[in-house]
This record gives sequence, C-alpha cells and structure tokens, in this order.
Amino acid sequence: MSTPILRVALDAPLLPGWFDYRLPAGIDAAAVAPGTRVLVPWGRRTVIGIVVGSATESALPLAKLKPVIAVLDDVPVLPASWLALGQFAAQYYQRPLGEVLLPALPTLLRRASGYKQAEPNGPWRSASIKGLLKRLTQTASNPPGADASAAPALNVEQAEAVEALARQSGFQTFLLHGVTGSGKTEVYLHAVAAVLARGQQALILVPEINLTPQLLHVFQQRFPDIVIASLHSHLADGERALAWLQAQTGQARIVLGTRLAIFTPVPQLGLIVVDEEHDPSFKQQEGLRYSARDLAVYRAHQENIPVVLGSATPSLESWLQVERGKYRRLALTQRAVAAANLPAIRMIDMQRHKANHGLTEPVLGALKQTLERGEQALVFLNRRGYAPVLSCTSCGWVSSCKACSAFMVWHKLDGRLRCHHCSAEHAVPRHCPACGNVDLAPLGRGTQRIEEHLQTLFPQARISRVDRDSTRRKHSVQELLAQAHAGEIDILVGTQMLAKGHDFQRLSLVAVVNPDTALFSQDYRAAERLFAQLMQVAGRAGRAATAGQVLLQTRYPQHPLYQALTTHDYAKFAQQLLQERQQAGWPPYAHQAVLRAEAATLEAALNFLQQAQAALNDLPGILVYDSVPMRMARLAGQERAQLLFESTSRPALQQALTQANTWLHAQKTRVRWSLEVDPQEI
Ligand code: ADP
Ligand code: ZN
Ligand code: ZN
Repeated sequence: MSTPILRVALDAPLLPGWFDYRLPAGIDAAAVAPGTRVLVPWGRRTVIGIVVGSATESALPLAKLKPVIAVLDDVPVLPASWLALGQFAAQYYQRPLGEVLLPALPTLLRRASGYKQAEPNGPWRSASIKGLLKRLTQTASNPPGADASAAPALNVEQAEAVEALARQSGFQTFLLHGVTGSGKTEVYLHAVAAVLARGQQALILVPEINLTPQLLHVFQQRFPDIVIASLHSHLADGERALAWLQAQTGQARIVLGTRLAIFTPVPQLGLIVVDEEHDPSFKQQEGLRYSARDLAVYRAHQENIPVVLGSATPSLESWLQVERGKYRRLALTQRAVAAANLPAIRMIDMQRHKANHGLTEPVLGALKQTLERGEQALVFLNRRGYAPVLSCTSCGWVSSCKACSAFMVWHKLDGRLRCHHCSAEHAVPRHCPACGNVDLAPLGRGTQRIEEHLQTLFPQARISRVDRDSTRRKHSVQELLAQAHAGEIDILVGTQMLAKGHDFQRLSLVAVVNPDTALFSQDYRAAERLFAQLMQVAGRAGRAATAGQVLLQTRYPQHPLYQALTTHDYAKFAQQLLQERQQAGWPPYAHQAVLRAEAATLEAALNFLQQAQAALNDLPGILVYDSVPMRMARLAGQERAQLLFESTSRPALQQALTQANTWLHAQKTRVRWSLEVDPQEI
C-alpha cells in the first residue's frame, strides 16, 4: 500500500507543529526517513521543514494537500535520537514541535532562500552549504598538533572521581561537587579521554560564552589531534553550521558549547558534561524556555550514557537528587594545587566601618597592601554604569524609565541615561525635568563610579573594568581577560562576568562591595543565587601559591548565608535552604509553571489570565495561584502579569499544562502570552 503523505515539522506557532504534505506519485513517503529536510510551500513562501513521519491519510483530502517541492539530500539526515530529544523538549516545555526543531538548526540549514535548482528535475542545492561540505572534508584530516599537554598527577579524590566515571558506561547522573579550584576540569579531561578511547564523542556544556575559548584551549592542548567543534551564539552562520556538521558526521569527537549546544546531533555520544550546572544561564529565557542542564540529563538517559554535572555550589534541584539517591555525588574537597588554600572570607561590618565612596577603610587598606606586594585585586559589584539613579537634590525627582518599572542608570563616561531592561536611552538632562534645578546628583554606585574613585586613590595602579559596557566590542572581553592573566592589570573592577571560571594566578584579594540587597528579595531563589555567586567570586582568590583573602562589605555580617560562606560550608547552607523550601512547599519539592501575559494595560493582561484560570478551574492535583502583576510589571511599554501553577506531581502538572496549552492556542487575543515550565524567576 502506498503512503503518499509526509508529516513535516515547520517553524510555526500552531499545535502540534507539523503539517501534512503530499508527495508526487511514484515516491513513497515511508521511504523518506524522518529527519530529512524538505522544501515545502507555506502560505506564499517556500520554507524548509523537517520530516517527522509519514501517513496514509490526513484530516484533509489528499488532493487538497500541497505537494512537497523537494526532498533535500545535501547534508546527512538528522538522527532519530536528535528528533526524539526535540520531541521530548516540545512536549515537556509545551511548544509546537516545529518551533523546537527548526530553531535548533543552524540558520544555513533552515534557510530556504539559498536553494536553487541548476536544471529542471535536478537536485536542489545551496552554494553556501556546498562550500561548507568542502571545508568539512578538509578538516577531516587534522594535522597532528603539538604534544599533548602534560596532565598533572591526579590527587586521591580526583582519581576516585575519574575511576567512578570510567566504570560507568550506562546512564547515571553524577554530581561532581568540587570546591573552587579543586580541579574539576582535570576530571572532565580524564573522563573525556576514556570516552575518546572507546571511539565515542563527548558533549561539554559551559554556562558562559566567555568561558568557551578558555576551555576550548585547555581541551585542544590536551587532545591536539582531535577535532573539537565549538558552538555558541556569537558564531557566524557558516561557522555554526560547520561545527554542527562536524559533530553530526562524527568528525568532531568533542563538542563544546553554551546551552544551545545541547541540541547538536552527536551520533556516537558517550558522555555529557555540564560545567557549573547551577548557573542560571543554562536556562533559555525566551522562545523555547528550556533548561540545557535538565535536557542534558534527559539526553543521557535516552542514550543510556553517563552525565556529569559539575559545581562548587550545586543547584538545590541536583542536591536533592543526591539526597534521594538518584544522582551520585563525587566530591573534591581540596584545592588541587598543593600550595593553594581556600581563601579566608571576612565580613566587614558597615555599621562599624563607614564607607567612603562605597569603600570601607579595611578594604582600602587591603587594596593598598595588595598593590604594594605586586599582587592583583578584584573589586566585585553587580551593578554596571556610574550610578543606578540620578536624582534632583531639590525636588526629589529620580531618573525612571518611561517604558519600564525601573530606574534609568547614569552612564557618566558617555553622558547617557540608560534603562538596563529595555533599549531606552537619552542624554543626561542639564537640569531637573521637574523643577529646573541644575543640581542633579548620583544615588548609589555602579562599576564606573567605583573605578573612578579607585583611580583617584591609587593613581599609579593599572585599573580595568570588566562589565557589559567595557566589553561591548567583539573580542574585548578576551583581550581584557588576557591582560588580567598576563598580570598587566592591578585592580579588576567588575560584575559577575568576572566571577566564573577564571584562574588568575596572582589574584590575592577579592572585595565584594554591595551584596546585601539580594538577601531581602521577594524571589525565593535569590539567596541560592547570591550564595553561588559569592562562592564563585570568592573562589577567584588564592588559586595559586599566593594566599587569598575575601572581604565582604555588609550591614548583616551575622546573616546565616554569610556565615555559611565564611566556613565554605555549602552542604550546611543547602540543608537550611532545602528545609525552608520543604516547609513552604516550593521547588524542588514542588514543580511549577508560569503563564505570563503582556498587554498595553495591566487590566487586559490580568483579564486574560483570569479567563485562563476560569477555563482551567478544576485541574486535579494542581494549585493555581491568583494572577498577579509581575514583579517588574512594566517592561518596554508593556504591562505584564502572571499566573502560577504548582503541583507535587510532575505528571499531573504536565497533563494540566497540555490542557492549558490547547486552550491558549485556541484563543484569538491581542494579549501576548508565554508558558514557562520550571521557571527560575517568578
Ligand atoms: P575548578 O574548575 O574545580 O575550579 P580547575 O579545574 O580550574 O578548578 O583547576 C584549578 C587549578 O588546579 C588549575 O590551574 C589546574 O591546572 C590545577 N590542577 C588540577 N588538578 C591538579 C592536580 N592533580 N595537581 C596539580 N594541579 C592541578
Ligand atoms: Zn527637581
Ligand atoms: Zn526601560
């Protein structure tokens, strides 16, 4: 019997995300493998879709179905495991399948416009893909590189971790819990070496784009003869597609990248590593709101291979899984470099030590000594710009954004006020827009202001600021970091961009300027994030033989979070937090999803959510909270509100969400809505 209908996933916001097309007589749809790309008509356009199946009949009569224009055979068919991952993500995150699969492809592989037919009935080809395939065969024979960099002898804990990983070939989630500087990378390198020796491929995820080159370099040094594909969002289209094809064809034995790399087809996958697994950047915040960490665990399960989640401050989700015996913890409790110790962390009580220009006497004293010893210091605060607010000394006017419920930040260097939430910016007013007073003053401090002040205090010191403003230019982060590594910078002033992963050899002092606000956030995850961030940034100090110290300016030196930090006691802190979460019935003890609505007025947004709530009123096992304005209710001129779903049962939540999703897709409304499963910020 002939199967004339192809099911094709398309990037379109309609459930279920695939559409039926007809194949010309003589071609059997069942012979076109799922994972094949096809050119099809979509409205008045021609688009690329991905075959997900075939059928003998459709909801429409066969004659009404549009015909497939071409079956593309220029690159290998996407593997079944890749389709299965996409199918899982679509179902779990409640997105149309095509809106998951197509955006996961590199642009070149999903852009129909490049395709032409050289002769009638000839194959459809794209010049840019042809070029890529040529480069692909060239890179296949990688010239032998330098000698593999010498691996240090593993310490006992590292050796145990490596051995536990080597013994595991089937599915198991490992939590590599290692203090900062404990040599987690070395464990990854050994585990990857074992995977390569078995003829398999490894996939390594890192949280930050700025860390990719650094880790790539480490892996290249250790495995000079191996092709490593690196994938992140700053690649040019051609580079991205090349890396993708290298992974898919198996030429690249190691695939290294940021969260989007989780969707790379890796046919002989033997191991997945997620470094800094607690990091919020593994969660995509728009479109398909997925967690690459969670998908990594799913993918490992699906492919029956081990996955390693590494962190000094694991997420409470992962920590609880260890307590429940589902994940296996591998512990590295010491710094790997023999002479390096964890830094001493000291609270500077700001009730006793008044700050001058944001910095207290003990911090200034320590900076001075550090400079005298020729060592490096890092001054950390999570606020870029000069001052978070500009205010009028006479009438109390403050610089707020017209489009958001937020202040405009003063950027003194270029004399602008900028909203860090929308794209609004304008010149600093010469006088108060409300009363005409010319005396406008900054309130609070950002990185620029601290940098300016430090430069007047220490005119000889080489001071550099690392934040999103100072690194806007391409490669400028890498340049700044290279200078810091080379010891050409005495004081680094920066935001969390500096907190992760870097191994500055001469850095002996870390000063943390203003962390207290997060202690009192309405977001119950704020404490978890703050602890991780402070532990990370503290971990930059004293990584080599130079002893390190961390000074933290706070009004609450006795706060349990800071106390746990001082003793480097993640386990104790996690236990406290988990107890709180359990009592409150919050994640990880419950599962959440949030429906967000955006409209011109708050009323319209809330109204829409109330309709949703009414339509979904008796979902078994689900707690639906009342709809409320979002914490930042106004963003870029839109009013935003949300409706929270919660359940202790994941299947119950999934079922409810499927119902909600069907209802949502059936609505004709001007309200923009989005559904997020496992939201990180509510
Ligand atoms: P982490 O990622 O756990 O913070 P890293 O992997 O960056 O730590 O390692 C910290 C430092 O320790 C690096 O300079 C690394 O080369 C070094 N190192 C790792 N393992 C060993 C070892 N067994 N002996 C000596 N040095 C080591
Ligand atoms: Zn005024
Ligand atoms: Zn704004």
